[in-house]
Amino acid sequence: MSTPLNKVSYHFPGQAELDGVWDVIVVGGGMVGAALALGLGLRGFSVLLMEREAVQTDWQPDRAYEPRVSALTRASENILKNLGVWPGIEQRRCHAFTAMHIWDEATPTEIHFSAEEVGEPNLGYTVENRIIQEAIWEQIAQCDAIKVMLAAQIERVELQHEQACLVLDDGQQLKTQLLVGADGARSQIRQKAFIGLDTHDYEQCAVVGCVKTELSHQDTCWQRYRQDGPFAFLAMGENISSIAWYLPSEKREWALSLSDAEFAREITHASEARLGQVIEVAQRVAFPLVRQHAEHYVKPNLALVGDAAHTIHPQAGQGVNLGLLDIAALIDVLTEAQAHSRPIGQWSVLRRYERWRRGDNAIVQRSMEGFDWLFKQDNALKTRLRSHLLPLANRLEPVKRWLIEQALRGREPLPELAREVCRKGL
Ligand SMILES: Cc1cc2nc3c(=O)[nH]c(=O)nc-3n(C[C@H](O)[C@H](O)[C@H](O)COP(=O)(O)OP(=O)(O)OC[C@H]3O[C@@H](n4cnc5c(N)ncnc54)[C@H](O)[C@@H]3O)c2cc1C
Repeated sequence: MSTPLNKVSYHFPGQAELDGVWDVIVVGGGMVGAALALGLGLRGFSVLLMEREAVQTDWQPDRAYEPRVSALTRASENILKNLGVWPGIEQRRCHAFTAMHIWDEATPTEIHFSAEEVGEPNLGYTVENRIIQEAIWEQIAQCDAIKVMLAAQIERVELQHEQACLVLDDGQQLKTQLLVGADGARSQIRQKAFIGLDTHDYEQCAVVGCVKTELSHQDTCWQRYRQDGPFAFLAMGENISSIAWYLPSEKREWALSLSDAEFAREITHASEARLGQVIEVAQRVAFPLVRQHAEHYVKPNLALVGDAAHTIHPQAGQGVNLGLLDIAALIDVLTEAQAHSRPIGQWSVLRRYERWRRGDNAIVQRSMEGFDWLFKQDNALKTRLRSHLLPLANRLEPVKRWLIEQALRGREPLPELAREVCRKGL
């Protein structure tokens, strides 16, 4: 049975009703850009959301699992709840996980984190990316302050004195007080605004997809550190887990060329058969892993959010969580500027957003680097270090509690939307 849901009405280049000066134009309607457009629209800003492809919001319960999945933290759950998106996610499909189990190929150490230890109902939710995006777009369809434009080709970005102008390839000029690049890791907005990028190639790829296993995942996310890179099972449905299999870049083609039966055997082996045999595999895809950090998040009348501003190693599942914290912080900053009648594109206003988020994102990027270094099985000293550090971390309850709370809730000060009860509501 399909559930009738709200449909978005689309606009196309050349339509005169898109002329005039928008409060905000958001380029990119992925999870992060769409959430920003919705948050700003609900606060009364006029928003033009530009996306390449239409997003279908229809839901069929028997739909196959998507290969791209995110583990959402409590902060992200709060943001999506405060935006009114969470019921749309629950109505579709999501899975609460209550524990994380980490072990290392080269040492006998195992670490177990559980929600019970910190008095939480769970440690987060695993949700298909497409479901998060659809649930946000369903709410966008109901918000009159947001118009959605498809299929525009951006020729130029002009940052003028008090506004930004997007010039399209047909000559149409779209004007706004604030242009936001939410157009992903290869952001055209970032490039056309001449914002530089600090990059680091991990020389690894991640193969992702959903699998069915012989044994139950016990609502647990399992991560094993191996010679080639980490391997993870994220709990999804009954005996269904999403996998993230990290491999050196040169093994990408090999991994994608395996037959279903060979792939299932390799995954069983990589996971040390912790969930028994892998008995079914769905569509899988591979992503190259690169750390990127934009040199600036803002210029006058311009801001970058989400993967357009930063990408990190996905082993701790933080990418979209950081992007959602970006947009929640930007919404706070813009709401406050508007309340004080300050232009929302002013550099000093936008700098508050940059100062708030850039340092935090850099800390998470660097800690992932530290993890990557520590768990690379390339020297005996590191193996010894791990064999001392991991049992210690497992035994020290306050350390474990602190780690769980940081990962689940994010660092203070949290933006308003990321808090449990949003004071002002929307
Ligand atoms: C293997 C892997 C596993 C991951 N696991 C997790 C996880 O467990 N938890 C987590 O938090 N993160 C995870 N991430 C990271 C997460 O997927 C990204 O951080 C997230 O998708 C970024 O969202 P975004 O909206 O910023 O960008 P994107 O998802 O890239 O969206 C960008 C949007 O912009 C649109 N667009 C691009 N150019 C234009 C244009 N010129 N005009 C109009 N529209 C345009 C695109 O169509 C797209 O819809 C993972 C990443 C990988 C690679």
